[in-house]
Amino acid sequence: MATISFYCVKCRTAKTVDESKVEKTKLKNGRPAAKSVCPDCGTGMFKILSAKEA
Ligand SMILES: [Zn+2]
Repeated sequence: MATISFYCVKCRTAKTVDESKVEKTKLKNGRPAAKSVCPDCGTGMFKILSAKEA
């Protein structure tokens, strides 16, 4: 199972989230992005995906 790493601004550290818990989306400019929730504190996390993660 693939995982995606996010940066949690509340924990101030990187979090690895199972891809099944990640919501993939697209920005207005067409770039792929992903949303998830920090497994430790519940804060929403967001990142723009690189080509290999999308
Ligand atoms: Zn957190």
